[in-house]
Amino acid sequence: MRFQTLTPRTACEALELLRENRGELLPVAGGTNVLVDLRRGKVAPQVLVDLSRLEEWREIRFTGDMLEIGGLVTHADLAASPLLMGPFAALRMAARVVGGPQIRNRGTLAGNLQSASPAADAVSPLLALNAVLTLVSAEGSREVKVAEFFLGPGKTLLKPTELISKVTIRANPGGKSIFYKCGKRNALAISVVNLAAYLELNPEGRCTGSGIALGAVAPTPVRAKRVESYLLQQKIDDTVIAQAQELVDSDICPISDIRAEASYRRQLAKVLAGRALYALAGLGGNNYGVG
Ligand SMILES: Cc1cc2nc3c(=O)[nH]c(=O)nc-3n(C[C@H](O)[C@H](O)[C@H](O)COP(=O)(O)OP(=O)(O)OC[C@H]3O[C@@H](n4cnc5c(N)ncnc54)[C@H](O)[C@@H]3O)c2cc1C
Repeated sequence: MRFQTLTPRTACEALELLRENRGELLPVAGGTNVLVDLRRGKVAPQVLVDLSRLEEWREIRFTGDMLEIGGLVTHADLAASPLLMGPFAALRMAARVVGGPQIRNRGTLAGNLQSASPAADAVSPLLALNAVLTLVSAEGSREVKVAEFFLGPGKTLLKPTELISKVTIRANPGGKSIFYKCGKRNALAISVVNLAAYLELNPEGRCTGSGIALGAVAPTPVRAKRVESYLLQQKIDDTVIAQAQELVDSDICPISDIRAEASYRRQLAKVLAGRALYALAGLGGNNYGVG
């Protein structure tokens, strides 16, 4: 395995390198997926572009009412950020359960997105929160909704000369979100199913906005659109939650694989949806760590 590594100091330099080489270089951020792919022979680039020095893409900040997260922000940065509270809590909760400490210290949000695993943990919160990705190239930039970014397992609509520079989320400060992950063990486990839910409730407890997304139950992470439509204007109670759980079934199409049977995933998705709605609605005297 022989390759050269180029280490640009600025985003402009990195994008210029990709443009000059017509995208034949492989970008690497934390390298947690790229190194595995290199060892397995899944990729064999002659040149890697190491993005890890691009400090300008490492920031988490509010600009007005928008939360902006640089593409190179790591899972550890997300897990520790005081900005990821209330409506954004699901992303912090997801970041806390990605891999182990080493993976969280190196692995980045952009790398998680571009790897396009159906089970990627950071993606469900971004989907539930209607996040928008900024894709940049030497020619310019474009914005893409995270819901439109994934084409299938390992496939996205990123062009070879583009990079993910940032993720932007707008959410109502009164909204709350939560994330649950079920794996085969408590640490260093790929999700068997994960679920992120976002809810806005009016003072009477009626739902005025929602986002529910699941991972590892379809070829790409998916929104539970039928559940979301059903919840709108409902007063969240036991009956509504039970009906929402039934509807989850029609929004997903899980497969059986080495980690779980499809029927188990269906059951798990319902359980996680119920738990999330109870927690976000503040029912049952247990807020399940909603932050
Ligand atoms: C042991 C282990 C455990 C893991 N556990 C989990 C887990 O629990 N949950 C989970 O979701 N994932 C897990 N992962 C997967 C991985 O760690 C994450 O997806 C991580 O976020 C990838 O980020 P990275 O920066 O390391 O990506 P890299 O490996 O650097 O890159 C991955 C892909 O993204 C591209 N890329 C990187 N940065 C950019 C950018 N800015 N713009 C465009 N493309 C870019 C690369 O070219 C490559 O195609 C695990 C991996 C390992 C090895």
